Amino acid sequence: MTVRDIPHFIPGKPTAGSSTRTADVHHPSSGEVQARVPLANSTDVDEAVRSAATAQAEWSAWNPQRRARVLARFLELVEPERENLAKLLSAEHGKTIADAHGDLQRGLEVVEFACGIPHLLKGEHTTDAGAGIDVYSMRQPLGVVAGITPFNFPAMIPLWKAAPAIACGNSFILKPSERDPSVPVRLAELFLEAGLPPGVFNVVHGDKEAVDALLHHEQIAAVGFVGSTPIARYIYSTATANGKRAHCFGGAKNHAIVMPDADLDQVVDAVVGAGYGSAGERCMAISVVVPVGEATADALVARLAERVKSLSVGPSDDPSVDFGPLVSADAVARVDDYIDIAANDGADIVIDGRGLVVEGHENGFFTGPTLLDRVPTTSRSYTEEIFGPVLSVVRAETYEDALRLPSEHEFGNGVAIFTRDGGAARDFAARVQVGMVGINVPIPVPVAYHTFGGWKASMFGDLNQHGPDAVRFYTRTKTVTERWPSGGIRQAGAESTAPATDHFSIPTMR
Ligand code: NAD
Repeated sequence: MTVRDIPHFIPGKPTAGSSTRTADVHHPSSGEVQARVPLANSTDVDEAVRSAATAQAEWSAWNPQRRARVLARFLELVEPERENLAKLLSAEHGKTIADAHGDLQRGLEVVEFACGIPHLLKGEHTTDAGAGIDVYSMRQPLGVVAGITPFNFPAMIPLWKAAPAIACGNSFILKPSERDPSVPVRLAELFLEAGLPPGVFNVVHGDKEAVDALLHHEQIAAVGFVGSTPIARYIYSTATANGKRAHCFGGAKNHAIVMPDADLDQVVDAVVGAGYGSAGERCMAISVVVPVGEATADALVARLAERVKSLSVGPSDDPSVDFGPLVSADAVARVDDYIDIAANDGADIVIDGRGLVVEGHENGFFTGPTLLDRVPTTSRSYTEEIFGPVLSVVRAETYEDALRLPSEHEFGNGVAIFTRDGGAARDFAARVQVGMVGINVPIPVPVAYHTFGGWKASMFGDLNQHGPDAVRFYTRTKTVTERWPSGGIRQAGAESTAPATDHFSIPTMR
């Protein structure tokens, strides 16, 4: 296999940069190295930030409707490219091509949302807040902003960051995951083709060195991050200590509560798809199933075991497989370790996916689906994120016990409840301490015009991703109070409406 070189994209053109460090990009289905990506140093980052700052001055002066047209044109250009992008994404990430289409689609939906930017940027206005006084606000871009994104959604998450950021008039620097960096570069090229001025959307590859250069660069105004919790915490504290706006989204442990009245066929379909789809490498994957009552648990585990046994795992370009390989050999070792930990802590291994070998792909990063039952809540396999194709069943005696599990867990990204009882569902939605809730919906990722964000150790910052919060995150508000002293238009004889002016007291509206 020839090894490709994947370039940075600064400003509007491919470049190798000045650093000599590189990372290998694997083909997870075969285990082979398929490409090499440069790991930027601070000089490369500085070059990107400077060109982004220059481009931003022109871009922010475009009226919002004109900016929106670039996004609309981008959507048109992506259309004939969907299959190529999905194949490229699948070949570096390892998710199936069908799932890669979904990854791209959920990103494009945020671009569609951002096409409404002329409306979204409208500020507030009050006429006659006082005699002859009007007050209005405007939302202005921050300048140059950065997005640091994870490997598991290489199209969706870069677009969640880039589309609102640039629509608001900022320049954007993307530092995508070094494990699957090709799709982000292709997306940046398509934006350029769509009419985005060079330098408004830059892609800088790298690892901690590049990230630290962004976090310490004085011209970066805001940082959006998605990835694991320890890195999210580090990036949030460093960015904010350096005076930058930041929102950082971390890891997860998403529970599905199954009430005794739930339709178990529906539950099995939902949790198997949400638990094992994309090999469990989704921040909204269901990883813990909580049946309420022993009878529900016994019936559910029996049905789950039947279904999980029948799942098919293989290369990501085989349309017949349910899921493909994990992203790396390290990820396989990490998942295997967690299964060992669960077994040592007393969990029952109902289906063991360790050591799966796929014929013809012996060096691929595969692990089969694993089903664990009676997982102790003290086990690290329960308290920590596994991020692989492992479903853990934790049995609860009562609804209140079940409600406590996700509420007391360190993470609070997503949660679901399966029930036919509207009262129970309402109570659950109101009381559970988790940011995104599904009612008979296993992966409650909100649509693009609502906002996405978890609670507790799944999110550091205030404003969520996409929806109206994204516009607030990527702009700052300026509020203008104005009075125009009456000139010739006041009719002769009319009294002045201006208040008597006391220049020495704080102005009030009485
Ligand atoms: P990761 O934290 O390893 O990497 C994320 C980004 O941070 C990458 O761009 C990486 O290059 C960079 N990075 C890694 N180590 C760094 C360091 N020491 N200093 C600075 N930057 C560093 O995450 P990942 O493995 O790519 O992605 C999987 C994780 O992302 C999971 O924990 C998953 O739950 C989480 N995730 C969360 C959400 C969400 O919205 N909450 C969405 C998707 C993924």
